[in-house]
Amino acid sequence: MTAQILRGAPIVARLREEVRASAALLRRDAGREPTLATLLVGRHPAAEAYRRAIERSTVSVGIAHRPVALPADASAEVLVDTIEQLGLDPGVHGVLVLMPLPDHLPASLVQEHLAPLKDVDGITPTNAGRLHLGLPSLRPSTPQGGIDILDFYGIELRGRDVVVIGRSNVVGRPLATMLSLRDATVTLCHRQTRDLPRLTRAADIVAVAAGDPGLVAGEMVRAGAVVIDFGVNVVDGKIVGDADAASVAPRAAAYTPVPGGTGPVTNLVLVRNTIAAGLAALEGTLDRLP
Ligand code: ADP
Repeated sequence: MTAQILRGAPIVARLREEVRASAALLRRDAGREPTLATLLVGRHPAAEAYRRAIERSTVSVGIAHRPVALPADASAEVLVDTIEQLGLDPGVHGVLVLMPLPDHLPASLVQEHLAPLKDVDGITPTNAGRLHLGLPSLRPSTPQGGIDILDFYGIELRGRDVVVIGRSNVVGRPLATMLSLRDATVTLCHRQTRDLPRLTRAADIVAVAAGDPGLVAGEMVRAGAVVIDFGVNVVDGKIVGDADAASVAPRAAAYTPVPGGTGPVTNLVLVRNTIAAGLAALEGTLDRLP
C-alpha cells in the first residue's frame, strides 16, 4: 500500500482565499486594518521562528502584523499591563503571546489577562471553557488546523476510534474535545499511559502532539490507519515530526508530512481566527462565531 500524503498546501491556498474575503468585510465594517499583535518576551529561538512564520502568513493574506516586544527580564506587572493594553486597543483584533515565556513569568498570567474576544489561540478560560461546553469559541489554531486537514481530505470522524497522544492545553486536549464534538471516540494518551502501542494499534486515526521524535513508529499503527503529526522537532539540523514517516508510510492509509503538513495550516487558522475575532468584537459576543 502507498499511503496518501496529506499535505497542508492545498488547505493553505483555500484558507488564504477565504481569509482575504473575510478580511475585506472586517476592513469595511470596522473601518480599520485587520491586525494581529504578537507579543514576544525575551528572545527564545522557537518563539522568534514562530513569529516569523506568523508574519509571513499575515503578509500572504494582506493583513497587518504588529510585533510587540518585552525584554526577557520584564516583570509580571509589565507583562499584564501590556496584555491589557492590547486588549483595549481598538486597532488590534487578535493577540498571540508567544511561548515559551521566560521562567519567572507563568503562562497563567496570559490566560487570565488576555481579552477573550482577542484570544486567537483559544487559551483563556472563557474560550477553553466554551470549547469544552460545545459553545462557539475562538479555538486553538493547531488542533483546529488538524481538523481542517481531516475534513479537507474527506476523512470521516463520526464513530471512528481516535488516539490522541499528548494532552497540552494548546494541542492534545483541545483536539480531543474537538474530535469528540465531531462524534469520534477519543482516547487521550500522555506520558503516564501504560501501553501506548496497544491503544494506537486499535485506532482508526492516530494524532500525535508529544514533542518526541519518532514516537509513533510503523509497528504501532494498524494497516490502513490515518496518522496526523503535530510534532516539530529539530534532529541533526532537520525538522522532523513525532511520527517516523519511513516506517509509518508503508502501513498507513494516509499521513501528514513534517514539514509541510499540519504546521503551515496552523498559521493560516491563526489568521482566520484574527478576522473572526475582529468580527465577533464588532458584535460584542463570541456567540455567533462559526
Ligand atoms: P505541545 O505544546 O506540542 O502539545 P507539550 O510539551 O506541551 O507539547 O506537551 C507534550 C505532551 O505530550 C504531554 O501531554 C506529554 O504527556 C505527552 N508526551 C510526551 N512524550 C510522550 C511519550 N513518549 N508518550 C506519550 N505521551 C508523551
